[in-house]
Amino acid sequence: MKKQGKLIVHTGSMFSGKTTSLWRELYRMKIANYKIAAFKPSVDNRDDERKIVSHDKLEIDAIKISDLNEIVDYAENHELDAIGIDEVQFFPNDPSEVIDIFTKLMKKRITIVVSGLDMDFKTRPFEIIKEIMPIADELTKHHAICASCGEDAWASYRKSSDDSRIQIGSKDKYEPLCRECYTKKMSEREKTKNQIAMEDLNQ
Ligand SMILES: [Zn+2]
Repeated sequence: MKKQGKLIVHTGSMFSGKTTSLWRELYRMKIANYKIAAFKPSVDNRDDERKIVSHDKLEIDAIKISDLNEIVDYAENHELDAIGIDEVQFFPNDPSEVIDIFTKLMKKRITIVVSGLDMDFKTRPFEIIKEIMPIADELTKHHAICASCGEDAWASYRKSSDDSRIQIGSKDKYEPLCRECYTKKMSEREKTKNQIAMEDLNQ
């Protein structure tokens, strides 16, 4: 395994196993004696499934950061060979800035493994993922299983009517749905919303 200065992207909906793939990739590098570090956005307060522990007790902990620029100094000071970034769409950095940061790291032959959501709950692409997908050396789109019909899932459906773009949550707040089930649920929701509005008008 000679992975130096590469960009590896794992994307897909929620519950698609993209974070697990990120960890697996880092774990393999750790076995290959790469100096690695993993980062995740400080806004992400879920601590479940953020660590892998193998039978030989190798663990990878993620360092919480609020800005991707923090990685550049860290990587230099620790002479890293590879870094992992989880939930990259939650960082506030502009896509062009992210590409600059990644280019800087790759020039130093550091491999970057990224995991991030492809689309928000309204199926609008996350800008960072949209920009880094074409420049990736390796790209995998992961799929969860549709919670309604068992088909490959396509989107992360938000169960509540909260409209803010970033809403950290897990199965309590989201469910993976295929394109057909997602479209059906969204139009049902729209109908209910209109009905409530009509009832309000008639009162
Ligand atoms: Zn479905």
